[in-house]
Amino acid sequence: MRMLKSFIIVVLLYPISFIADGQTAKAWYKGNLHTHSYWSDGDEFPEMIMDWYKSHGYQFVGLSDHNILAAVEKWVKITRSNLYEEAFANYLNKYGATWVKYKKDSGRVSAQLKTLEEYRPLFEDRSFLILKSEEITSKLGEMHIHVNATNVQTVIGRQTGSTVAEIMQKSVDAVLAQRKATGIPMFPHINHPNFFYSITLQDLIDLRGEQFFEVYNGHPLVNNYGDSLHPGTEVMWDKINIAYRNRGQTLMYGLATDDSHNYHQFGSTYSNAGRGWVMVYADALTPASLIAALESGDFYASTGVTLESISVKATPASKSLELKVKQEEGVTYTIEFIGARKADKEAKVLQSIKGAQASFSFNNDYLFVRGRVTSSKLKPNPFQDKDVEMAWTQPVFQK
Ligand SMILES: [Zn+2]
Ligand SMILES: [Zn+2]
Repeated sequence: MRMLKSFIIVVLLYPISFIADGQTAKAWYKGNLHTHSYWSDGDEFPEMIMDWYKSHGYQFVGLSDHNILAAVEKWVKITRSNLYEEAFANYLNKYGATWVKYKKDSGRVSAQLKTLEEYRPLFEDRSFLILKSEEITSKLGEMHIHVNATNVQTVIGRQTGSTVAEIMQKSVDAVLAQRKATGIPMFPHINHPNFFYSITLQDLIDLRGEQFFEVYNGHPLVNNYGDSLHPGTEVMWDKINIAYRNRGQTLMYGLATDDSHNYHQFGSTYSNAGRGWVMVYADALTPASLIAALESGDFYASTGVTLESISVKATPASKSLELKVKQEEGVTYTIEFIGARKADKEAKVLQSIKGAQASFSFNNDYLFVRGRVTSSKLKPNPFQDKDVEMAWTQPVFQK
């Protein structure tokens, strides 16, 4: 035992872990898992959207339209306005008349959308991957229950039930069932719980088999920060994990996503690309590797802050979480460690440090500890006025 206690096991120490024999090292991959296009209520063609993400430093995108996969014949009518007619002209000009299939009826343009299998070869290479995705979209009265399915293979579609909790659970279960039936890794994630304040904290606490939800979503109607009557998503996150840890359920991880719909008008009343993303530390840019890393918690959510490393070191008696921020000139950072002890009803800030590097050690009295970085830099085109750039690491715990 004495030997064991002094033996430090490095559980995760990245980004400096290399695989032997000259194989590819692990790397960070930037991605947006929640994106809309003309395939549902987004206002742009998938090719234009993929081009935007690929040329803005992303390595993967899940195009997740509502209750549809880009695998059928679908035509879109271009809205009669200069804005959308010019946007179509740009698309036609960029991809050419042999690629774009369209017709004009009384002056109004209709265009056939390209399927994923058609447009995927234009973008995919060693540095860019498209994940087949769907936003399973259901409604109960005025309540909206949306669950993303990443790397889903066949469409799941709207779920029904008599409560929000039941519909949400059925959506999650449908993805897990498809995964089991196909043997292909895929995962559900709960979208924007505070969209119309549809999904409550208790609904999320009661949920089984879910490992991901959106702690940050860039759509203007999602109430990330809550209001006087409803908790914000970050407060919900910790309360969910207090409940999950106390009953031995796998922790809930927090994602940041764009939920982008609007590609031609910009500002806080539009859902624009580039607001929130995940940085995943994976073996390779493949669906299986990305999903394995996400499910291991080897990622962080960001609205602008980039981390140089996250390391978790463990001894039998304690664990430490260390964060290093990739500093930008003229920007300052506050690193906070947030966690809960066994008797706590809510999480607290356990330590707050001004600087670009910090660590926190804890023992098994703590249910979990996570890191949050707040920068002094205003977020360009933010979700909400005066938002600054942030990052959230995933909760870790001492067994
Ligand atoms: Zn949604
Ligand atoms: Zn959405």
